[in-house]
Amino acid sequence: MITTINPATEEQLASYPAMDALELTEVISLADRDYRRWRTVAPLERRAAMHRLAALLEAEKQQHAEMISREMGKPLSQAVAEVKKSALVCSYYAEHADRFLQSEESDLDGMQGVVRFDPIGLVLGVMPWNFPFWQVFRFAVPAIMAGNGILVKHAPNVTGSSVAMESLFRRAGFPEHLYRAVHIDLEDVDRLTGFIIDHPAVSAVSVTGSTGAGRAVATKAGHALKRSVLELGGSDPYIVLDDADVSAAVNHCAAARLLNSGQSCIAAKRFIVHASVMEVFEEQLLVRMRSAVMGDPFHPDVEVGPIARLDLRDQLHDQVRRSVEGGAKLLCGGSIPERKGYYYPPTVLSGVRAGMACYSEELFGPVATLIEAKDDDEAVHIANDTPFGLGSAVFSANIERAMLIAARLDTGNCFINTMVKSDPRLPFGGVKQSGYGRELARYGIREFVNIKSLCIA
Ligand code: NAP
Repeated sequence: MITTINPATEEQLASYPAMDALELTEVISLADRDYRRWRTVAPLERRAAMHRLAALLEAEKQQHAEMISREMGKPLSQAVAEVKKSALVCSYYAEHADRFLQSEESDLDGMQGVVRFDPIGLVLGVMPWNFPFWQVFRFAVPAIMAGNGILVKHAPNVTGSSVAMESLFRRAGFPEHLYRAVHIDLEDVDRLTGFIIDHPAVSAVSVTGSTGAGRAVATKAGHALKRSVLELGGSDPYIVLDDADVSAAVNHCAAARLLNSGQSCIAAKRFIVHASVMEVFEEQLLVRMRSAVMGDPFHPDVEVGPIARLDLRDQLHDQVRRSVEGGAKLLCGGSIPERKGYYYPPTVLSGVRAGMACYSEELFGPVATLIEAKDDDEAVHIANDTPFGLGSAVFSANIERAMLIAARLDTGNCFINTMVKSDPRLPFGGVKQSGYGRELARYGIREFVNIKSLCIA
């Protein structure tokens, strides 16, 4: 049985029966049957279903947002924005999938060469709780538009959201079993995820989650010789140069650290600031972090909700504690409030150096770490001095200088003078231990296709 808990109140929300291997086999075989039908469906019909899904999400955004906020604690306005963004990715691929999947023709010394982008089968998504709708939609929508079927093993604390998404696909008019959620008990996760991946009808897996989950699932996929895309953890560096508009930089940096109560893979996690502007940056960041209102995610003034689970809140606090013991200076926050719910206050650590927990580990919560750099070279060195390589940002009045730094950063993206955000029109993904493969744009839809060459004499 899977039980969900409201992290703001610590109350139980609902319980859902977990599936065993027999039930999973049944689900997979139904999904496989519907996938075989779906792959023959004309693009026009696929597009119409995807537009209906976008319209349903838009019409029902409030109810789904409330489920998200109840299950994982994100402020309601951010949950509404998440559902709207999920609708956007449906419309985006409904409009562009045909073009992205257009066959390519060439002349092969008098013979005709054709490259087709055919479906590959069922794609398993192993998904995290932090953006319970968006993470699923951004992998599932392009995969379905390419003619594939979907199985989703979601994080157990957002099982209500997972059930809601399955119903949305069905009600939008996709074949009944084309998109199926699978519910797995925590103690069976490793074994039963392996069971699904080994099934001959399953062709690929897309993991969004921590580096540990990515490694475990990709190992299974590798053993079964199946394709994987990994969207894993990050410790995004935000570099603030000496010529930056510091106030604007502080606004972007704080927003990027506090979004989703700090629980985003592309949250700003390390602020690498030129020594000459550190004092003013620190002062303004402190004011901004101290003024962020923490509390009930359903209250309109609240910017920071609870951490999604008790163990994650305790892990975050332990990272802060070890960082302070290692020499970091605690400027605000850093203690667990005496109230119901898994809250952790906006926290700022300064004087951060290599060797401290907050320098090298991913901090999944509203904790900002300040690292001083004496020049551009040192800033780049610190930014790259991490096992992660997801996003990054550079703040400077000189775009050419910022572009030179961007080119030297070992990350999957770099945003200049703004915060990192995923956008359906731009490929998204990381390097190093942040994973491999890309989601979104034309690159995302090409991950889960059979690139088939034809030669016609
Ligand atoms: P998590 O603990 O790694 O869990 C993610 C998913 O992986 C869950 O469904 C989890 O299921 C599953 N999982 C974990 N170990 C597994 C195993 N051995 N076999 C099969 N499945 C396994 O991560 P989270 O706490 O949900 O999410 C936070 C992490 O995700 C952060 O590191 C964040 O940076 C990363 N993230 C990355 C991106 C990106 O786009 N790069 C986006 C969002 C989040 P159980 O919970 O049932 O174990």
